[in-house]
Amino acid sequence: MTATGDRCDDPIRLGTPLTPGATRVMLLGAGELGKEVVIALQRLGVEVVAVDRYPDAPAHQVAHRAHTVDMTDPAALTAVIEAERPHLVVPEIEAIATDALLAVEAAGTTTVVPTARATRLTMDREGIRRLAAEELGLPTSPYAFADSREEVRAAIEGPAGVGYPCVLKPVMSSSGKGQSVLRSDADLDRAWEYAMAGGRVARTRVIVEGFVAFDYEITLLTVRAREADGTTGTHFCAPIGHLQRDGDYVESWQPQPMSDAALAEARRIAGAVTADLGGWGVFGVELFVAGDRVLFSEVSPRPHDTGLVTLATQRLSEFELHARAILGLPVDVTLTGPGASAVVYGGVEAAGIAFDGVADALAVPGTDLRLFGKPESFTRRRMGVAVASGADVAQARERATEAAARVRPVAL
Ligand code: AMP
Repeated sequence: MTATGDRCDDPIRLGTPLTPGATRVMLLGAGELGKEVVIALQRLGVEVVAVDRYPDAPAHQVAHRAHTVDMTDPAALTAVIEAERPHLVVPEIEAIATDALLAVEAAGTTTVVPTARATRLTMDREGIRRLAAEELGLPTSPYAFADSREEVRAAIEGPAGVGYPCVLKPVMSSSGKGQSVLRSDADLDRAWEYAMAGGRVARTRVIVEGFVAFDYEITLLTVRAREADGTTGTHFCAPIGHLQRDGDYVESWQPQPMSDAALAEARRIAGAVTADLGGWGVFGVELFVAGDRVLFSEVSPRPHDTGLVTLATQRLSEFELHARAILGLPVDVTLTGPGASAVVYGGVEAAGIAFDGVADALAVPGTDLRLFGKPESFTRRRMGVAVASGADVAQARERATEAAARVRPVAL
């Protein structure tokens, strides 16, 4: 099976799981997004292997086989890929030894989704920002990179025009970890210490970005998929609006109303960046919108957390779209109706928690719930999500937030 390149004439054939003809897919990262991708693949009769750094991760629980591996260790990552020989390797997280993925892809051992280069470029903020702004000429906030407190000050005052207010983020971090807003020089020490503590690696490089006073921010789910004639087509889902708190998503809704001009610009940007990254699959393109002006922020070469809302809004969720696209199957991005999602946080620090209030939550009309089954809860860990449909986005948001609030995680 070929899943890269811009043309694929091979008809797609799917095998039977657990037989020599099986179509095998390996997920690297077995969190809640991976769990839904695994379920979608299972429904197509794909043999699925899930890998994470800790046992009994959400997608481990629904895969044919589960491995617990430190995926930042290139030797360990290569070993598990060589042992399982998957046709496709699907990274679900950023903290992966991407050099090892480049090597297995180059050796022809497997196909990396969407491409090994895309996982490499998007694993840190510098690779993707330089590609988008400097190579593709896409509009972004002003930015500069720095390796020390002094360089941060120089970067803010430097020719890039970052200035105050600005946002400081470790280049290797996700979900807002280590990220803070600086309003003046006085905030610099605190922001620097916070970034050093929040990065994925001990000493880390940072990006400083001009603070964007956006009207709203969106995720534009963009799907690159095989068309009937063997070429690759680009499909855009309806824009998803979302609310972030401390750099973490708490609520999302779809569709986010946009002017025709802003939507066209959002699609132009998303089309350009995903075309450059290449391959097949779902991409979550994050954009800031002010009036008709749209700025590129970042892109995930995989389903996006804010896209959990598509479980309630689209004929095919972003997870089903990803499963289809990576296998070279046709996609359909039809929105069936407005909807929303709201996160259920752990609220407690404990292992093996229980959830009270589930019946009350599901009594809210038009709602559904996903409890991820994470073995350990932290106060700010995402343990589940409520999704809701509604007559309009406002009603769907009310329903989703009400349902999420009714779920009460409890330590046993
Ligand atoms: P990120 O981890 O880069 O996706 O950032 C998380 C959230 O922080 C974004 O979704 C925005 O709400 C906010 N944010 C990040 N960068 C900026 C910026 N340059 N200006 C304003 N808000 C930002």
